[in-house]
Amino acid sequence: MTSHLETRIAERVAALRADFVALRRDFHMHPELSHAERRTGQVIAERLTALGLRVRSGVGGHGVVADLEGALPGPLLAYRADMDALPMQDMLDTAYRSQNPGVKHACGHDAHMTIALGVAEVLVDLRETWPGTVRFIFQPAEESLDGARQMLAAGVLDPPPEAILGLHMFPIPVGQVGLADEVCLVGMEEFRVRLYSPAGHLDTLMTKAASALRALSTARAPTGPTTFAALVQSMQTSDAHQDTVLVSCWPRYPEAAMRGEHLLGLVSIPRAVLRQQVRAQIHRVLNEVTAEMGAAYDLTYTFDNPPTKNDAGLVREFLPIAQDVVGAANVLRFRAPYPFAHEDFALYQQHAPGLLLWLGSANPKRGLTALLHAPDFDVDEDALTIGTRLMATALLRVARARSAA
Ligand SMILES: [Zn+2]
Repeated sequence: MTSHLETRIAERVAALRADFVALRRDFHMHPELSHAERRTGQVIAERLTALGLRVRSGVGGHGVVADLEGALPGPLLAYRADMDALPMQDMLDTAYRSQNPGVKHACGHDAHMTIALGVAEVLVDLRETWPGTVRFIFQPAEESLDGARQMLAAGVLDPPPEAILGLHMFPIPVGQVGLADEVCLVGMEEFRVRLYSPAGHLDTLMTKAASALRALSTARAPTGPTTFAALVQSMQTSDAHQDTVLVSCWPRYPEAAMRGEHLLGLVSIPRAVLRQQVRAQIHRVLNEVTAEMGAAYDLTYTFDNPPTKNDAGLVREFLPIAQDVVGAANVLRFRAPYPFAHEDFALYQQHAPGLLLWLGSANPKRGLTALLHAPDFDVDEDALTIGTRLMATALLRVARARSAA
């Protein structure tokens, strides 16, 4: 059921379409790498200031935070968008291709920022009817997975909001959204191993240990899905990925070797509860392999990013909203996480109930089918208006439900 206010949101978003497209193309033409989002932060701060918001810049690096206070009492909610681009050459043959050689918005953060600014603009128009406060968090350094940590250290979730929302482009057809019931993206851990081996055996030991560690990977299906469409299908129908642990391990990885370490490993974990179990298995494998050869080892965990897991209550609240805005048939329910990427949105979810939505951005008829992080990635710009309308409506309904409670 769509209320009068939601109709106003839809009308306003439709009227702003050309402005959203221009803004997204401006971001796309001027991408900046993690920790270098200076211009991007300036553009965001200028737009938010022009909307009359009180803006804090330079938060956790080049991050920008602004609170939109409604005229009515209500809850504090947060909305997060990420800002950085990737170190790759833009292969698009469009007027808005990247002007920065070797840097490209290949993960859709240009669209994420545009949608967040669009939501802010629409909500400012409704301020008189708005209950509570929405905190807009523009986060740098997502690709390097340390931006959220810096934003949290700068206190962006003090006090914690009642909910934090965000979205991410996903190359399913534009008009569709993907809502993960639980885990949206897998978590990861990085580890390093130093080996102490009898003279002359180090190479053999490194190779043995690396392959024994990689063999810890589990996959219920003997072969994974071979196309993206098949993967999306399997995310909807099967929970097989819920338990799939992937262990990658590289001997003599240059960066580790410089520090006298012999193995660099990455573990991809879909559920936090599997973490201790996998850690124990890694120790067991290293114990076995080194004992066999009269060697020893040191194991250090050097980085981790938890799984991005949607809050069950928020999923229940969000589902009918998404169904109203994009149509029930266009809401895909995902039972399994996307297994090939990580998100530091997960860190905000440790402080507040959070939901990260997949927003369809592909259009096969127009040849827009590239995957995230591909040099020819592009979005169908209808995603800008759909995403803005959906998220503004969601924030409105969640705020009103909490203020009525
Ligand atoms: Zn991304």
